[in-house]
Amino acid sequence: MTIGVLALQGAFVEHEQRLTELGAQAVQLRCKEDLQQALDGLILPGGESTAMGKLLRELDMLEPIREKIRTGMPVLGTCAGLLLLAETIENDTRTHLATMSITANRNAYGRQLGSFYTEQRFADGKIIPMTFIRAPYIRSVGEGVTVLAAVDNRIVAARQKNQLVTAFHPELNDDSTVHAYFLDMISEYKTAKR
Ligand code: GLN
Repeated sequence: MTIGVLALQGAFVEHEQRLTELGAQAVQLRCKEDLQQALDGLILPGGESTAMGKLLRELDMLEPIREKIRTGMPVLGTCAGLLLLAETIENDTRTHLATMSITANRNAYGRQLGSFYTEQRFADGKIIPMTFIRAPYIRSVGEGVTVLAAVDNRIVAARQKNQLVTAFHPELNDDSTVHAYFLDMISEYKTAKR
C-alpha cells in the first residue's frame, strides 16, 4: 500500500514512521507532479493550516487533492490537516479543501492550554494516547459524519466515508491504532472499487 504524505510543512516524518511500522509505504508529496503517481491514500499532517493552505494554493496542489478526495481517495487529516479538510472553520476567514462536513474551531484550547496529553477511547475500541498541540476541536458535525472520539465533551476524531480526522497527533505517540484504522479504511475502499 502506498500512502502519500503531504510534506510541505509540519509533522510529516512521524507519519511516515507509523506507516512504515505497519508495513505500508510512505511517499512525500511536495509538488503537483508528486500527485500523479499511484496512491492508495493521503495523509495531511499537523503544522500550520494557514501556511499549508497557502502553499497548496501556490503549488497548484489544492484542486488536484480536492478532486482525489471527492472521488473517494481515503484521507487522514491530523490537527492542521483536520482544518484543511473542514467545510467550516468558525474562527478563520478562509477554508482550504473544505471537503468534510464538520465545523472546526481553530486553536480551540487557548494559548496557555495549547498543548496537553490525555488518553481516551478511539472508535469504540481501545483507549489510546492523544497528544494535542495548539489543536482545533470539532464543534459540530454534518450528516454522514461519525464521531470517533471526544475529550471533555469536545469531538476530537471523526469520519465521513473516506475522510478521517483527528484533532490530536496520533503520529507522535508510540501507538499505531489510528494509522491501522486508516489502513483498514483503505482496504475497504479498495475492495469496494473492485
Ligand atoms: N494551530 C494550528 C493551526 O491552526 C494547528 C496545530 C497543529 O497542527 N499542531 O493550523
